[in-house]
Order: sequence, then structure tokens, then C-alpha cells
Amino acid sequence: MNTRTVAPDHLQSAPSSPAAEASRNQFSEAQRQLDEAAAFIQLEPSAHELLRWPMRELHVTIPVRMDNGSTKIFHGFRVQHNDARGPNKGGIRFHPEETIDTVRALAAWMTWKTAVMDLPLGGGKGGVVCDPKTMSEGELERLSRAYIRQTACILGPEKDIPAPDVYTTPRIMAWMADEYSIMQGNNEFGSITGKPLALGGSAGRNDATARGGIFCIREAASLLGIDLRGAAAAIQGYGNAGAHAHRLAEELLGMKIVAVSDSKGGIFNPEGLSCNAVSAHKKSTGSVTGFPGAAPVTNEEIVGLDVCVFMPAALEGTVHKANADSVRARMIAELANGPLTPDADKVLHEKGCYIIPDLVCNAGGVTVSWFEMVQNSYGYYWDEEDVHRRLEKKMVAAYRNVHRTALEHKVHNRLAAYIIAIGRVAEAMKMRGWT
Ligand code: NAD
Repeated sequence: MNTRTVAPDHLQSAPSSPAAEASRNQFSEAQRQLDEAAAFIQLEPSAHELLRWPMRELHVTIPVRMDNGSTKIFHGFRVQHNDARGPNKGGIRFHPEETIDTVRALAAWMTWKTAVMDLPLGGGKGGVVCDPKTMSEGELERLSRAYIRQTACILGPEKDIPAPDVYTTPRIMAWMADEYSIMQGNNEFGSITGKPLALGGSAGRNDATARGGIFCIREAASLLGIDLRGAAAAIQGYGNAGAHAHRLAEELLGMKIVAVSDSKGGIFNPEGLSCNAVSAHKKSTGSVTGFPGAAPVTNEEIVGLDVCVFMPAALEGTVHKANADSVRARMIAELANGPLTPDADKVLHEKGCYIIPDLVCNAGGVTVSWFEMVQNSYGYYWDEEDVHRRLEKKMVAAYRNVHRTALEHKVHNRLAAYIIAIGRVAEAMKMRGWT
């Protein structure tokens, strides 16, 4: 099927807020990263052109009955960037400033990420323009089920398998897997990953993104001769990726997290912030802000703190041309997708900041999602230790391959990751006779 439709005009016009303005160019920035790598490896022009665009995208308009009896119309997308190596795989984001270009960029990055990790998957992504913080549980359930009904024609365990992303949760994945199963007439738990354990979720999926990033930081520090015990770190974004990274950086690396933030702002304490205490505060108040004994910091200031490791774990483009020079971290571990714009990348490389790119750093999530698909397909489930061991093996191998490729070609890690990924996807496309 090749479903390609055009978004309503208002979805393609310029968004108004600064965050939306920043996200508007995500897809052209993803294309720019590809172009740089394609030129470096002298990629065949037809393969390059094919990889510059999503192979398929679906735009949906979704009516949802709200609690007050009115019907609200939502807009959503599912983008399939490339499935040469296997079915498309990627999360679904619920965000008020979601745009088709953000989803396209995120889908392309999934193609590269699954290839860097050598998973038999392609790249996809979905999004719905909505503000889940203002919706009731019933409204969210009806929206989640309606999104699946509208996109099911291009989904399925052999075609495209969604997962959670920003502001979507295991509970939402459960409704989606249930709706898809009802439509098929049988349980299709392998159609969605990031599900609760009771519905065929995988042990270890919840903290997999953060855990994978922590393995990368550990490997990088050992190669760079950095002692992480007691070293300071700051984390921007305190959701699935960020909050688990706080706990695991303490538990597994003995690091001191001096600052964390969420969409409402941040907190700073040079003596360190206890993960349990901050998480409890966020749970009871809805934000990390106002945490007793810590000073407030803005999301802009957290970028420039004097720390050993900075972990962006929120949205795209939070480190950009205007603030990149303020970065003082020795290392940036990209738990978020696309947190550095290409301009920021350039400034930071010139400053000598060591960057662990998103394509490998946050790939723990999709790796355990793939484990979940495998477990769903043979109906046998691994214990948590088994998942952690398998994840560590995949992460360490992929990170070392990126590092080795960077040294071999005398390039930075992001370009090295692209070189590996494009090589694998281009080979699959050639074998299939696409190029
Ligand atoms: P989440 O919804 O669980 O958490 C998002 C966090 O970011 C929240 O704490 C929110 O308050 C904060 N936030 C939102 N806007 C912000 C802003 N402008 N400044 C600072 N903080 C802000 O989402 P998540 O799953 O943790 O995803 C975070 C990032 O990690 C995204 O880039 C996502 O694509 C990426 N990622 C997630 C996974 C996964 O498995 N969940 C996997 C790979 C990559």
C-alpha cells in the first residue's frame, strides 16, 4: 500500500510558539545530516534520494467524543521512512506542538537507529496533535483507540509496530494493542510494544532507553579515561528517559546528579539530588520545580552548567546555535532524539565536547521493544536479568562500532553512526533491487 495524502493547510503552516518554531525544521535538519554522510561515503544518487524521503505517510483526522458531550477533532500522522531491513518501528507521540516534519524526522532517525543497532527493523513514527495534560483518562482512551482504527491499515507486526514516546505510556499502548486485536479478531500483542507486563510487555522495557544510554556513558568514559564516580551530571527532561537515567546514573555509575528539569523548569543543588526524593516530589506536585533545598534553574541555564555529563532527555533542538557555546559538559549523552541542531553539533565538536549521538545513545528503548516483539511471537518471556544482559551486549557492541568507525574515518560519532546505518540500509535496498 502506498498511502500518501496531504495535510490540511493549517498543519503545514508555520507554528506560532518558539518550541514549535524550533521543531518546524527538524526534517530538513535530518535530511542535512543524511546529506553530509551520503557525500562522505559517496552514496549512489538514487539511494540517497530514496533515503531523503519517507516511503509512506498517512495523515488522519480523528473525531473524539469529549467528556462534556462535544466532539473534538484531532489531527494525527503515521510516517514510514524506510522498511528495507524489516517492518517499520517507532513510537507515537502525543504533543500539542506536534508537526508532520517532526514526525518525518523522528521516523528517519528510527531507520538509522535500528540499522546502527543491527535490528531487523525499519523506521517509522507517529504523532497526534493534542495536549494529554488537559485530557481525562476516558478522553485519552477514546483518542488512542480512534488513532489506531484510523491508522490500522498500515500497521501490524509484519508492517509497522508503534511504541511509546513523549506523553504516551504503557497504559496507552495497552488500549492501542487491545483496539488493534479487536479489529483483527484475535490477540495481536506483537502489534505494539512498550505494553504493560500483563499484556505481553517485556521485563526491562520501562527503563531500557535510560539503561542503554548509561551503558554508552560507561563505555565512553572508560575509553576517554574519565572517572565517573562522584562526577556531576545534569538531566534535561524528567519523564521515562530522564527520570530513569537519574536513578541508573546513581545506581550503576555512582554519579552525582546536580540538576534536573521538566517542561515547567529545573532545579539545581551542587551537593546532588536524590532520585527517590525528586521522583516522589514530581509524583506529588506534577513537576520537579519547587523541590526543597534546591535552587531554581531554567531549561536554558541547565544546558550551560559546569558538569561532566549533560543528558538532554526532553525534546528536539534544545541545544542550538545560540546556546551551544555555553555548554561546559565534557560529554553529552543524547537520550532525547535530535536534541542538538546541526549548528550546535558543529560548535560543540569544535569545543572538543564528546557527543554520544541519539542513534546509539537512546537505542536501548527500541532494542528492548524488539526483544518484546520476539517474546510476543514465540510466547515465551525472559526475566529482567536476561533482558538487561542481552541489552548490554547489544549496546556495548553498537557503541564500540560507532567509536571504532569514527576513529577509522577520522570523523565525529554522529557521522560514524550515519556511515554504519546508511551502509546497512543501502545494502538491503540494493539486494532488494530498489536501487
Ligand atoms: P516523557 O513524556 O516520558 O517525558 C518527557 C519529559 O520531558 C517530561 O518530563 C516533560 O516535562 C519534559 N519536557 C517536555 N518539554 C520540555 C522542555 N521544553 N524542556 C524541558 N523538559 C521538557 O518522554 P520520554 O519517553 O522520556 O521521551 C523523552 C525523549 O526521549 C524524546 O526525545 C523521545 O523521543 C526520546 N526517546 C524516548 C524513548 C522511550 O522509550 N520512551 C526511546 C528513545 C528516545
